[in-house]
Amino acid sequence: MQLIDTHTHLYLPEFDSDRDEMINRAVSSGVIKLLLPNIDLKSVGAMLSAAGRFKNICFPMIGLHPTSVMSNFKAQINELEKISSEHKFIAIGEIGIDLYWDKTFLKEQMDAFRQQVEFAIKTELPVAVHSRDAFPEVFSVLDEFAGEKLTGVMHAFSGSIQNAEKAIGLGFLLGIGGPITYKNSKLGKIVEEVGISNIILETDSPYLTPVPFRGKRNESSYICIINRKIAEIFGITEDESARVTFENSCRLFKI
Ligand SMILES: [Zn+2]
Repeated sequence: MQLIDTHTHLYLPEFDSDRDEMINRAVSSGVIKLLLPNIDLKSVGAMLSAAGRFKNICFPMIGLHPTSVMSNFKAQINELEKISSEHKFIAIGEIGIDLYWDKTFLKEQMDAFRQQVEFAIKTELPVAVHSRDAFPEVFSVLDEFAGEKLTGVMHAFSGSIQNAEKAIGLGFLLGIGGPITYKNSKLGKIVEEVGISNIILETDSPYLTPVPFRGKRNESSYICIINRKIAEIFGITEDESARVTFENSCRLFKI
């Protein structure tokens, strides 16, 4: 069985004491490819060094995370775009809008998102979109690019079935992780409705840990737990759900 974790921040300090063991644990559980979304200028170095140590396992993305967008965002994005020409990146991410933590920089967040979507179209890369309490704002930016060749993932999808259908209509897949294992989660129904061809699996580790490890640090080997849940929802074998979501991920990220 081969699986991909399409969203892990394994370069963060939470993994400093056992990063190599954690990655080896993932690979020996069948999670053979790990995609690394960037956060901001400060995280690029650690991300690239992890990706460099685990070639053909770790694949980095480049982008400015919405919660790192402040008044200086233009300078940060320019710097990140410069770095993007010096290394190989598989996607622009993670980018988007987050109004859960703070609405102060809404206008800046929308401008930063727009600028990075433009860059993704120009460089023909998919986008990894972070949308928290912000689907109307995220869609209003994405609608400006209707008709352009844009693909991507709605990472840690947490919206309604209408949001899901809108995203899929725009050429996006849904990134599904730990929250699908939570009691009272509505994600299972949404996933069932949109079908397995429209989803990919992710941990968002060290965050969003699935049951039964909820509350502890998340890690990529737990993709197996998410895959088991997906297989259960569709009434198929774990091998089959692994195969389909693996292919969906490879198609989107061209790996
Ligand atoms: Zn993330």
